[in-house]
Amino acid sequence: MGAALLASWPWDNLGFYKYLLYGPLVSKAVASRAWEAASPDRWILLLLLLFGLRALTYQLWSSYSNMLFATRRRRVVRDGVDFHQIDREWDWDNFLILHVLMAATALYTFPSLRHLPLWPVDARGLAVTALVHAAATEPLAYAAHRAFHGGLLYARYHSLHHSTRVPQPFTAGLATPLEHMVLGALMALPLAAACAAGSGSVALAFAYVLGFDFLRAMGHCNIEVVPSSLFQAVPVLRYLIYTPTYHAIHHTKKEANFCLFMPLFDLLGGTIDPKSWEMHKKMSAGVDEVPDFVFLAHVVDVMQSLHVSFVLRTFASTPFSVQLFLLPMWPFAVLVMLAMWVWSKTFVISCYNLRGRLHQIWAVPRYGFQYFLPFAKDGINKQIELAILRADKMGVKVLSLAALNKNEALNGGGTLFVNKHPDLRVRVVHGNTLTAAVILNEIPKGTAEVFLTGATSKLGRAIALYLCKKRVRVMMMTLSTERFQKIQKEAPAKYQHYLVQVTKYRSAQHCRTWIVGKWLSPREQRWAPPGTHFHQFVVPPIISFRRDCTYGKLAAMRLPKDVQGLGACEYSLERGVVHACHAGGVVHFLEGYTHHEVGAIDVDRIDVVWEAALKHGLRPA
Ligand SMILES: [Zn+2]
Ligand SMILES: [Zn+2]
Repeated sequence: MGAALLASWPWDNLGFYKYLLYGPLVSKAVASRAWEAASPDRWILLLLLLFGLRALTYQLWSSYSNMLFATRRRRVVRDGVDFHQIDREWDWDNFLILHVLMAATALYTFPSLRHLPLWPVDARGLAVTALVHAAATEPLAYAAHRAFHGGLLYARYHSLHHSTRVPQPFTAGLATPLEHMVLGALMALPLAAACAAGSGSVALAFAYVLGFDFLRAMGHCNIEVVPSSLFQAVPVLRYLIYTPTYHAIHHTKKEANFCLFMPLFDLLGGTIDPKSWEMHKKMSAGVDEVPDFVFLAHVVDVMQSLHVSFVLRTFASTPFSVQLFLLPMWPFAVLVMLAMWVWSKTFVISCYNLRGRLHQIWAVPRYGFQYFLPFAKDGINKQIELAILRADKMGVKVLSLAALNKNEALNGGGTLFVNKHPDLRVRVVHGNTLTAAVILNEIPKGTAEVFLTGATSKLGRAIALYLCKKRVRVMMMTLSTERFQKIQKEAPAKYQHYLVQVTKYRSAQHCRTWIVGKWLSPREQRWAPPGTHFHQFVVPPIISFRRDCTYGKLAAMRLPKDVQGLGACEYSLERGVVHACHAGGVVHFLEGYTHHEVGAIDVDRIDVVWEAALKHGLRPA
């Protein structure tokens, strides 16, 4: 099949530079001081403003659609939006560039349109617009849509729009230039009629175009927002306004529900799916979903709090890093943090499916720094406890505690909750057995000696005890002889001499394998010999000061290949990769382990858990 005319965007290869296409209009507006009332180019400013608002309309609907904590019960298609779909819809706003070019061309061709009055929106203008929309735009859009479902037109054009599994507001933009040209022309009809009738105004144009976008985005939002009680009260309404469920049926079934916004035309054309209303009723009432596995995370810091799908979906689908465009949002994010501190409970932020089971990520509404405030401790434990009890009540099988939520000083690695509630059905897991396994498996075979900091911590102890049994000499950096000896006595007598206490970084100046469980200053890092590799399990990770050394990342694993609906990156990790403690919880669930994994790590289970992870298709990152 050859390249079809207007089936792809001419600026496809420009990437971000496509926005330069707005350049000529922007520079003309600037040159003629379009913000001054007397400027002849005021229309350009208004046009750019309108298109900014159009983009915002879709963005706000996207945010709403991704607020799982508020919307998950009314999701129409129950799958998550995966990276594949996000990438395909990355340039969803191409049609806005096309429509700007079309509008600018129209305004250059008909100069009188440039001087439309700002107001009013009078009854006549509204009536003409509504009438022409219903009598021309709707039936023509219906006919065009049906035509686009025929053989070649479908294959070359419209199949793109149907290529996503889960409708999203941005899916509305996912279509070929030809389809968007048709749509743009159909949008122009009612406004042209209003102008011809002498009732055209800027406000009317804004109202119609933004209303149009609002309905297009709503129809694709995948959350049922139209209450079914409305249709029960006024039955005729169901033929005048479509719903997200109605259009989702078109996306999955393809041979029904073609209308633009008014199902009336499907009724006339005999193309209404008979189950539409029943399904709408069900969706608008909401259907509960119970995850089998929950990863209980917390917010890292204010910047990272913006790395969620309901803020910016595309940003959340890439590994987190601090970006310039986040700065203007920072003050707002600080307010949200304070509000969450006061009011919020733990809430759902994202989900994915693995082998037909729903996994959710929940966030405790607390930020990393709060875990270090002594007076905040009880509040945080209360939040975690409530989340565990809620999971228990819902029927969640395994809940895994992320990062600081299992801090030893906070709750003894989860022990607090398990002791307080002995009858829990949900299994509480810190996942650190797998974290230890990942770190240990990164140490090259044949290593004779390692230097370990944070040596008496939960992970440090497990790593030391494991390695000594493999006859690896472990220099355990600790000032506390008592804590060192306690761990040393846990090792079988014949391996105890492999564990050595050291109290100075200098002692490691000939050791090239450093396992870092406690933050290292540049001065301390200087003691490492050239070529040293720093393995780490310290949060936050140490800064790479040494050019002649290499630095490992935090222990992480890649989820199995058959994971579905995964569309957000976990903090700074690559797509598809999760922290080892998250993976540990997944393995705990997949294996159906019946114990809680809290408190000290059972060293004998490190190999067991590692083998199980590999067996289920998880891979070292
Ligand atoms: Zn659609
Ligand atoms: Zn279609």
